Amino acid sequence: MNPFIIDVSSLIQGAESAREIEITGELSSIEFGGALVEFISPLKLVAALKKASRGLTLRGEVKVEVKLRCSRCLKSFNYPLEFKADEVFALPEDLSHLPDEVEAFPIHKGRIDLEPALKELIVLNLPFRPLCSEDCRGICPHCGKDLNVESCHCQQQADDVRWSALKKLKET
Ligand SMILES: [Zn+2]
Ligand SMILES: [Zn+2]
Repeated sequence: MNPFIIDVSSLIQGAESAREIEITGELSSIEFGGALVEFISPLKLVAALKKASRGLTLRGEVKVEVKLRCSRCLKSFNYPLEFKADEVFALPEDLSHLPDEVEAFPIHKGRIDLEPALKELIVLNLPFRPLCSEDCRGICPHCGKDLNVESCHCQQQADDVRWSALKKLKET
């Protein structure tokens, strides 16, 4: 059974006005910026579903751990993601009546599928330039050494070349 599909018919019909939900489920990997983002933990969602004038609202918190690639040293690292979810779900006949600025996901046959909404939120909350650590030294652009592991003299040599060029300039 897919834990992200929820029967909300009693909420739409008004038999219930709100419901607390707690879901833990595995997501398939998603594509982001040309790379595949893998999940290394199940996703956990704690939220409240409430009946709204047109459809439902979902408000809560999401926790999941993803595997990202450092934009400086290119190594993979685990990144815990935690963010708030605030989504709207609407009946198909109401989707077109919503104001343009409201993005809603469909309620289909009395059910909602949280997976597309959650995946969209994950993408929005991923760091634009992931870093394995704030002070990652990256890879040397000249010799390709991982500067977190070993140091090289490329930068120093480049400085020396620039320095001697400057010195020559001064001498002439
Ligand atoms: Zn790094
Ligand atoms: Zn180097």
